[in-house]
Amino acid sequence: MARWVFTCKNCFRIVPYTEIGRTLMDYFFPTKPKVPSEGQRLECPQCKTKYVYQQTELWYERN
Ligand SMILES: [Zn+2]
Repeated sequence: MARWVFTCKNCFRIVPYTEIGRTLMDYFFPTKPKVPSEGQRLECPQCKTKYVYQQTELWYERN
């Protein structure tokens, strides 16, 4: 599974954003999902802290 994630600014653990499509193209040539220009507010599943994340903070996790 591969997905786009943020890193929690409080506990530095992973905050999932979106999962990638299932095709090989998506896997090897992922396109960054759109994040609203004002940012995306997400709650960390680990520490429950809410932060606003920007598109530049997205990173791709492949495992
Ligand atoms: Zn956290």
